[in-house]
Amino acid sequence: MSRPDAIVVGGGIVGAACARELAMAGLGVTLVEAEFVGGGATAAGMGHIVVMDDSPPQFGLTALSRALLDELAPALPAAVERDRCGTLWVAEDEDQLVAARLKAAAYGDAKVEASVVDGAELPRLEPGLRPGLAGGLLVPGDGVVYPPALARWLAEDARRLGAAIREGEPVTALDGRSVMTARGRIDAALVVNAAGAAAPILTHGLPIVPRRGHLVITDRHPGFCRHQVLELGYLKSAHSSTGASVAFNVQPRMTGQVLIGSSRELVGWNRTPNRALLGRMLRRAADFMPALAGLSAIRSWIGFRPATPDNLPLIGPSSRIDGLWIAAGHEGLGITTALGTARLLGDLILGRAPSLDPVPFTPDRSGEPAAAVHA
Ligand SMILES: Cc1cc2nc3c(=O)[nH]c(=O)nc-3n(C[C@H](O)[C@H](O)[C@H](O)COP(=O)(O)OP(=O)(O)OC[C@H]3O[C@@H](n4cnc5c(N)ncnc54)[C@H](O)[C@@H]3O)c2cc1C
Repeated sequence: MSRPDAIVVGGGIVGAACARELAMAGLGVTLVEAEFVGGGATAAGMGHIVVMDDSPPQFGLTALSRALLDELAPALPAAVERDRCGTLWVAEDEDQLVAARLKAAAYGDAKVEASVVDGAELPRLEPGLRPGLAGGLLVPGDGVVYPPALARWLAEDARRLGAAIREGEPVTALDGRSVMTARGRIDAALVVNAAGAAAPILTHGLPIVPRRGHLVITDRHPGFCRHQVLELGYLKSAHSSTGASVAFNVQPRMTGQVLIGSSRELVGWNRTPNRALLGRMLRRAADFMPALAGLSAIRSWIGFRPATPDNLPLIGPSSRIDGLWIAAGHEGLGITTALGTARLLGDLILGRAPSLDPVPFTPDRSGEPAAAVHA
């Protein structure tokens, strides 16, 4: 096998997108995945494609990524289940409605379509919401995908462009010029660590920790909800850096199932479900959509978001290891931001004008490991 230009370690949605981006630019790429493509956090994610205005860099990355997915949409197979269902952010009270108005203005400034909805309009948009809510914010360009199928398609497209995809091959060590696996050593001009929450196991000191989340899926009730519906307080949960938290977040699947989220907690790689937290999450959801309590949950699972102290991913070169690049730490937005991440990484590797300001994403921006921050 000829020596690749680039090795991408990790075949989650981020690694698959990076492999495809580099292959599109003409580089010889080898993607090395410990298990199978799209099986890590990617398989556990909800698949909400959302423009988020939590910080200007996050706004830029999510908006770029959503636009790239829109461009790609005609090429995607039905299995990706892309549904441009829009996001409805729900305001419980007047204070949250004021926040929705501010968000609408910020989205408008960035040319992202969004409109404020008053309480009387909510039942028309989502009849299942409880009466008495103050209103919300509708972002019609957002949507939903089935994440493992999108990751698989990205990897297959990279393969079509000449990339080698090696699955079932854990990387045991890497530097900027080579990776070691049980099958031997692979050399390349550069290495991308895209191993998600496991990235710090391979590159010590990266400020990433696993932040666990539970999801529940119901049996089929087509039309039960029409949008991805979230509470405006969701960001409070996303920001809670120590305690466990839940937020109302439901999604219509193309199968007619309803996907219910979400929770956040810092418990390392513990895979034992937290039934109390799951119960809290479901009660929170039924508080907003009472009829949810009457649906049958057929499955629940957990996944590990790769969390960083400032909620932004690490995208760019390692300042400590020559030839090593990082594309990891996407917390709860990696399905949304994989394409933008790959585009920015490709820009930096290939010396193109960057599509976004890369500085906020610099991998070595924080000297502290995340464990110290998320005590
Ligand atoms: C409950 C939950 C809900 C979510 N909802 C959403 C959502 O609605 N929208 C959104 O945008 N994001 C969402 N996310 C976040 C999203 O799933 C992640 O940010 C994203 O999947 C991260 O992708 P990744 O490729 O970086 O990591 P992963 O998907 O974890 O991929 C990393 C890959 O690296 C491989 N790997 C690890 N170690 C090695 C090694 N030594 N050698 C080789 N390979 C290795 C793993 O096997 C894995 O396949 C959610 C996450 C969770 C847990």
